[in-house]
Amino acid sequence: MNLSRITLRGLSLSSAPKVRFKIVLIGDGMVGKTTIAKRYLGKGFEQEYIRTLGVDFYKKITKIRHPRLGDVMIEWYIWDLGGQYYWSDVRPMYYTGAKGGILVYDVARPETFANVKYWLAEFIKNVGHVAPLVLVGNKIDLRGKVPNTVPKEKGEELAKIISEKMGIEVPYFEASAKEGININEIFNYLAVNIIDFLLKKRLQARK
Ligand code: GDP
Ligand code: MG
Repeated sequence: MNLSRITLRGLSLSSAPKVRFKIVLIGDGMVGKTTIAKRYLGKGFEQEYIRTLGVDFYKKITKIRHPRLGDVMIEWYIWDLGGQYYWSDVRPMYYTGAKGGILVYDVARPETFANVKYWLAEFIKNVGHVAPLVLVGNKIDLRGKVPNTVPKEKGEELAKIISEKMGIEVPYFEASAKEGININEIFNYLAVNIIDFLLKKRLQARK
């Protein structure tokens, strides 16, 4: 008998439960989606690029801390969707089965902020229902170095509008994948939010 396997399945009180989540990383090209994923996953992640489909795909098991449940092992399946317009025909199918998303814009390129609304619409339409989402303004290390960056207040304001529209709390994070600012926090928040969202749905289904 393989005892370690039994322990991993959560039969031992000392081991953390394990869940598998597919999420999508969305936003315009060059905003830093791939850099964010790589920074979070660090060493040991598996990457596959499905060239014909314009999508990068990463897999990794990491431990997160849930405020009530304690440690949870997350098996991440991160779909890094090609932001370029020429993938827009095939992109919708990548959302199937996604439990959540990270919507990224580049604070140094206001047009990527303006395009958030299109990504939001695509996310809601193709996931098929409201699902946990995090809004990220990336490249904050460029503030003060390039002119006309999108101010933090704008990101917070937009996250509030999105939250009202979706009926769930969508937070805004300022990040720098380059300097490693807020990257772990984004994924931790999303993992906790997805767990709570799924637990709530399950409870409602029982009623
Ligand atoms: P993607 O197209 O959204 O996947 O964007 P990439 O992750 O490929 O990043 C696009 C470019 O932005 C690359 O040259 C990155 O090195 C750079 N980049 C990514 N994140 C940051 C960041 O936080 N700050 C700065 N200054 N550059 C970044
Ligand atoms: Mg990329």
